[in-house]
Amino acid sequence: MIGDMVRGLVTTIKHVIQRPVTIEYPEVRRPVQPRFKGRHWLHRYENGLEKCIGCSLCAAACPVEAIWVEAEVNTDDERYSPGERYAKTYEINYLRCIFCGYCEDACPTEAITMGHMYELSLYVARRRDLHQG
Ligand code: SF4
Ligand code: SF4
Repeated sequence: MIGDMVRGLVTTIKHVIQRPVTIEYPEVRRPVQPRFKGRHWLHRYENGLEKCIGCSLCAAACPVEAIWVEAEVNTDDERYSPGERYAKTYEINYLRCIFCGYCEDACPTEAITMGHMYELSLYVARRRDLHQG
């Protein structure tokens, strides 16, 4: 009986002096691995034009059909990208996305990349939410 108590006490003390394995999320965030694939970002060129040209290669590469791209033609009065077309609608369904990164690899203009953000509380990430800066 006393042996059991001592063993229990030793276990307790051992855990008291050990470094905690929990963190105070969200005040403290663990860094992710460099190759971690989190939330997508659509990028712009320095002059403000969107890198996305609405080609839908990302949508074609997506194994779960999570991407919806609706392309529209640029005009001299309304120009959003340097190419002939731009993505009028760009949606990613995060209920489907498996974060494989195929869309990122397929993009010819490096318009879409996957960052380190993992706090996804959107139902559907729409074009206006995805564009950086
Ligand atoms: S990461 Fe994979 S599953 Fe998600 S949108 Fe891109 S290609 Fe589709
Ligand atoms: S993100 Fe890239 S692959 Fe997808 S439509 Fe835009 S330019 Fe094409």
